[in-house]
Amino acid sequence: MQLRNVAIVAHVDHGKTTLVDHMLKQAGTFRENEAVADRVMDSNDLERERGITILAKNTSVRWKNPSGEIVKINVVDTPGHSDFGGEVERTLMMADAAILLVDAAEGPLPQTRFVLTKALALGFPVIVVINKIDRGDARPDDVLNEVFDLFVDLEASDAQTDFPVLYAVGRDGHAMRKLDDPRVNLQPLFETIFEKVPPPKGDANAPLQIVINNIDHDDYIGRLAIGRVSQGTIKANQQVGIIKENAKNKAAIKVLNTFEGLKRTVTQEAQAGEIIAIAGIDDIDVGDTIT
Ligand code: GDP
Repeated sequence: MQLRNVAIVAHVDHGKTTLVDHMLKQAGTFRENEAVADRVMDSNDLERERGITILAKNTSVRWKNPSGEIVKINVVDTPGHSDFGGEVERTLMMADAAILLVDAAEGPLPQTRFVLTKALALGFPVIVVINKIDRGDARPDDVLNEVFDLFVDLEASDAQTDFPVLYAVGRDGHAMRKLDDPRVNLQPLFETIFEKVPPPKGDANAPLQIVINNIDHDDYIGRLAIGRVSQGTIKANQQVGIIKENAKNKAAIKVLNTFEGLKRTVTQEAQAGEIIAIAGIDDIDVGDTIT
């Protein structure tokens, strides 16, 4: 299986949730009879109330590339807000590239700048998606220029500044390589992710190493440690070492999950590059390393 880990970055309301929702639908993650909240990534009540996406969440889609291979795309939602500075960085570190989604009327706004700065500093290639080109007041050409100026202003490398651009009507599930291309589906976006997001590095046969980037909670299985396998292979029931800032512990991996669609699913092993959640380790925190 091919793997791609991509973060999605946007100013609030530029259409991140709606776009990811359509990616999930078009990649066939939903079963016909599955009831889902119509908007995927900010189902959290607090977020609904405040109208902003706060929590970093992981979703994934499986897409068949033109050669017929299955490509699993882990989509990492980034909090689009400088109030969550540390969380933004930690979340980005689970990805290898970023999708920058910008409203075709509003152009890049301050939150865009903040998160983009972090993504550029990590050396990520960025895919620019100019969204909502259906808006009556859309001005996609100007917005593209503004995005370009922003990259230059933030001292992006030449390679980063030579970013691929897509145009989109996220609400209809359409992405196009050119402004006047027919609006069909999100294939151009999936193709661009496959082409431009580097496959994860890391040797699956090397000693295990996972840095925990996020902590979550599950009502049934308890505390969840989320991170990316930077090298090696993790197995369910395995004994591991936990390296903390000032201590070393041992623990057993009771439940190992990967992300499939909107859900976590139980898995027996996960290799370098994959994003995982581990249950059953109570004394684990962000920044700890599993070995
Ligand atoms: P988020 O805050 O970035 O997750 O943005 P949402 O996905 O919640 O979208 C914000 C608003 O923009 C909602 O009212 C959406 O219906 C609307 N929206 C999303 N995509 C499009 C689009 O392609 N065109 C237009 N005109 N509106 C859109």
